[in-house]
Amino acid sequence: MNIKYIKHKTKKCCICKEPLDVMIQPETGKILYDGGNNAEPVMKGRCCNSCDNEVVLSVRLELFHKRLLKGENNGNKEHI
Ligand SMILES: [Zn+2]
Repeated sequence: MNIKYIKHKTKKCCICKEPLDVMIQPETGKILYDGGNNAEPVMKGRCCNSCDNEVVLSVRLELFHKRLLKGENNGNKEHI
């Protein structure tokens, strides 16, 4: 399936304030998804694809590593 991204007319990214990305089907112009990405733990709200990849992901990784260093997984048999 072909997918194209256009800019949202009203919804804005809560991090960079640029319009959110809207996923559309190029042939029909049908909107497939326009809800943005979960911006937590950076912000409470929705963010665009580039912030999700560049900002949110790195903060999540950072938190994940901090948790590992603190040994919060002690006693937890789960392997990562
Ligand atoms: Zn953004």
